[in-house]
Amino acid sequence: MSKIGVFIETADQAIKKSVAGVISAALQGGEVVGFVLDGFAESYRESLGEYGVTELVNLTAANIDFSKQPEAAGRALAQGTNAFGISSLLGVSSPIGNDLLARAAMELKSTLTLDCLEVNFQENYVKKSHFSGKAIATFEMGTGTHVIGIRPNSFDAVRNPVDCQVIDHGLDLPSEDAIEIISVDKAGTGQKELTEASVIITGGRPMGSKENFKLLDECAKTLDAAVGASRAAVDSGYAPHSMQVGQTGKIVSPKLYIGCGLSGSVQHFAGMKTSEVIVAINTDKDAPIFTKSDYGIIGDLFEVVPALTKALKE
Ligand SMILES: Cc1cc2nc3c(=O)[nH]c(=O)nc-3n(C[C@H](O)[C@H](O)[C@H](O)COP(=O)(O)OP(=O)(O)OC[C@H]3O[C@@H](n4cnc5c(N)ncnc54)[C@H](O)[C@@H]3O)c2cc1C
Repeated sequence: MSKIGVFIETADQAIKKSVAGVISAALQGGEVVGFVLDGFAESYRESLGEYGVTELVNLTAANIDFSKQPEAAGRALAQGTNAFGISSLLGVSSPIGNDLLARAAMELKSTLTLDCLEVNFQENYVKKSHFSGKAIATFEMGTGTHVIGIRPNSFDAVRNPVDCQVIDHGLDLPSEDAIEIISVDKAGTGQKELTEASVIITGGRPMGSKENFKLLDECAKTLDAAVGASRAAVDSGYAPHSMQVGQTGKIVSPKLYIGCGLSGSVQHFAGMKTSEVIVAINTDKDAPIFTKSDYGIIGDLFEVVPALTKALKE
């Protein structure tokens, strides 16, 4: 049976939510081996076993903190891939995932395909979107090892309980790295991460002010949702760039996307087109967004959103 590796991305000793979907994708290809870089594999063993990880490898190297040395982290993933006979290495296509998977692919001299929406190990292909979501490209996977980044939330996380064994695997890596991360200033601390959210409520230009975004925050709380913004809202200073969804913002794929006062531009849709259900709230019945949404509410967002929040609270 093939072994598929999964980079278990963590932050502050917690597994990123979208990793579970990547494990489910990997299980289609064979037995799943997880690679942990923060040294806390034992504390993740139970939850990862629930999703089907049979071996969980604690990759360690003396005097190296992988969170500060991305080159070493990429090398560690590559060495783990070779040592455990992995045929494909998968991870979440997050900023950190993309960085480390690319470094691992470089070390492995393997193919690299990021932001994939589909992976098929039986027929050896992956699919990803191109040209702002207007085209879906199919890439055939040839022989050799493949490194694949999966767009967050593209695969449902399916429980598949197995016994998970933790393996400590020490590596001999050069302690000098060309890059060292000195400090990290997190943008939008306290906000729910857009790319990880199952529900997103987004405000467009008519939000009119930073203050008015609180309307969306209130509604988001009732739905355990993240709040996003269009570029028009960001450029107007109503929201930080970390909240921007679209071609030049974040790519999201939630179960439910509620767009409030969005016209439905191609560039915005490039970032959220793969959402499972799209709901649009717009005063203009002819707004283009209504032709691209599953449900539409013709109305003023300043009336509809508070009514929605009230109904959800009840
Ligand atoms: C290279 C490039 C990259 C870009 N990248 C991005 C990107 O990443 N993300 C992005 O979002 N955009 C991006 N844009 C900008 C994009 O083209 C649009 O200008 C932008 O998405 C429009 O934002 P909007 O829908 O909020 O505003 P508008 O287009 O102004 O639409 C506002 C909508 O709100 C409706 N409305 C007005 N008042 C209300 C109300 N009270 N209640 C309900 N509805 C109301 C109006 O009928 C209208 O349909 C990019 C553009 C370029 C050229």
